[in-house]
Amino acid sequence: MDKNREQLRELLAREDFSEIFERADTLRREQVGDTIRVRALLEFSNYCRRSCRYCGLNCRNPKLERFRLEPAEIVETALAAREAGYRTIVLQSGEDPYYTPEILGEMVRKIKPSGIAVTLSCGEFSREEYRYFRECGADRYLLKHETSDPNLYAGLHPDSTLEQRVQCQRYIKEAGLETGGGFMIGLPGQTLDTIAGDLLLLREIGCDMAGIGPFLPHPDTPLRDAAHGSAQLTMRAVALARLLLPRANLPATTALGVLDAKEKRSVFSCGANVIMQKVTPQRMKNLYQIYPASFEEVDIPEGRKRVEQEIVSLGRIPE
Ligand code: SF4
Repeated sequence: MDKNREQLRELLAREDFSEIFERADTLRREQVGDTIRVRALLEFSNYCRRSCRYCGLNCRNPKLERFRLEPAEIVETALAAREAGYRTIVLQSGEDPYYTPEILGEMVRKIKPSGIAVTLSCGEFSREEYRYFRECGADRYLLKHETSDPNLYAGLHPDSTLEQRVQCQRYIKEAGLETGGGFMIGLPGQTLDTIAGDLLLLREIGCDMAGIGPFLPHPDTPLRDAAHGSAQLTMRAVALARLLLPRANLPATTALGVLDAKEKRSVFSCGANVIMQKVTPQRMKNLYQIYPASFEEVDIPEGRKRVEQEIVSLGRIPE
């Protein structure tokens, strides 16, 4: 399917989207089956050197209590996730120079023999560093472009450019890592045309996975008074992403669940096939505040059990 930008914009604006939701659901079943892939998400540091204007982790937020896990605890938690049945661990952090490429690579080397796939999501690195992560055994790298509008991007990210971001995504792809991208719905200044561009950029990069979630304003950021993104529009974008990238892994993002738990379930019937479950130690879970949220107290095996039950209740198969 080759949808140009104008067609995508028109589709996003449709009054009745049900036919496209159904097409996306059918395509999802044909291409990736009825399983929902569960990813363990370990947030290991909320320090960040950047100052993205929408994010609670930005270095100019003095109110956030900061934490870092030591590499040994990160490895131990990843192994506990494997033990509980997870087949992928996502290691996520702000851009925290404390964890050098060597430290990150060493953690991957220690985790991989357990048989769990490792996704890194730690921000921007050089071409050589992404290659090094692959050599150490990392399977995937997640780096969202957030918005495909260069001016909007520059306004939201004082420390970088869209061009630089996309270059990093190309390096990730070139390094042989499965490439995860994604963007936000409802950023102030975003239009349906921007979202059409976001969807096309996912395809242009050749994303193997794409996280599309609503913008949620954080009270300790410059965007505190902005309205949150729409859950309905997020679902529409996920459905169109399925049509554009038939075999991609598309998560129901945590942000969508925070905005609307019901819609998080519905997104599985319009193209999504992945769910993230936090395995971050309880004392840190609520400090990883890209957007404001609070998460229930549950240990790793219990969290796995609950997410499997939720998947079965949707008539799908946990993987
Ligand atoms: S969005 Fe990422 S890079 Fe930007 S401040 Fe937040 S954690 Fe840091």
